[in-house]
Amino acid sequence: MNALPPLREVIARHGLSASKALGQNFLFDEQLLDRIAAIPGSLDGQQVLEIGPGPGGLTRALLRAGARVTAIEMDPRCLPALAEVEAAFPGRLRVIEGDAMKLAHGIEGPFHIVANLPYNVGTALFTGWLSGESWPPQWASLTLMFQLEVAQRIVATPGTGAYGRLAVLAQWRSAARLAMKVHRSAFTPPPKVMSAIIHVTPAPMPSAVSARMLERVTEAAFGQRRKMLRQSMKGLPGALAALESLGIDPQRRAETLSIAEFVAVARALS
Ligand code: SAM
Repeated sequence: MNALPPLREVIARHGLSASKALGQNFLFDEQLLDRIAAIPGSLDGQQVLEIGPGPGGLTRALLRAGARVTAIEMDPRCLPALAEVEAAFPGRLRVIEGDAMKLAHGIEGPFHIVANLPYNVGTALFTGWLSGESWPPQWASLTLMFQLEVAQRIVATPGTGAYGRLAVLAQWRSAARLAMKVHRSAFTPPPKVMSAIIHVTPAPMPSAVSARMLERVTEAAFGQRRKMLRQSMKGLPGALAALESLGIDPQRRAETLSIAEFVAVARALS
């Protein structure tokens, strides 16, 4: 492996001033990047799909960990810097220029997905990766940076204010954990909010449940989260009868239902 110059020098040489529109907040600390690349477990010889490599800090860490990386980057200004990384790790990095919202779902697995993305893009891709009807998915794990508050919603448990659609989606057939908090000062430029990395692995899917139906149930239930289920779910045909047959009190509110109870309602309606 050829020695690569420090990331700050790469940024300066290629004129990569951070674009706000593309949500660019870069990580330069190699030790932190190595710790992030270690979250999925050993990547030696594994395929990784990285979204938004930017100047390539996390990409380098993934390659140092032994991964083969396919990286999708939308900002053409980053491509020369990424070409240098490619040259330092011959045959182990493939860079695709384009919008991950259009490209990320067309790539053949199995692979680990690792990304430090703008929050809006990250949440949209995340819900897409979790809501496919076919299971297990193409990905072996997701390691994704989110705004701390979103990360807390992903791992939230019933009875808490953070528990909602995102928690049910992330946990009904996956194991989701908050792997690491990342202080805003770790980024250049620092964002306004704190961040955290979520790690998700697929689990067995409960039988006879449709992802789409579960989504409809949680959409109705949490759409009016302060209301009792008998009010919030009355617009979903068959839902009130399903609650009754399952012995779920319709006076309860959505945030008191366990994930298993949501799954049971969706199964009864499927
Ligand atoms: N991975 C680098 C790091 O950790 O320092 C950069 C992180 S920066 C928060 C997000 C990166 O995602 C930027 O390089 C940005 O250009 C890229 N990006 C933003 N939207 C994208 C999209 N829709 N598809 C692909 N890349 C995108």
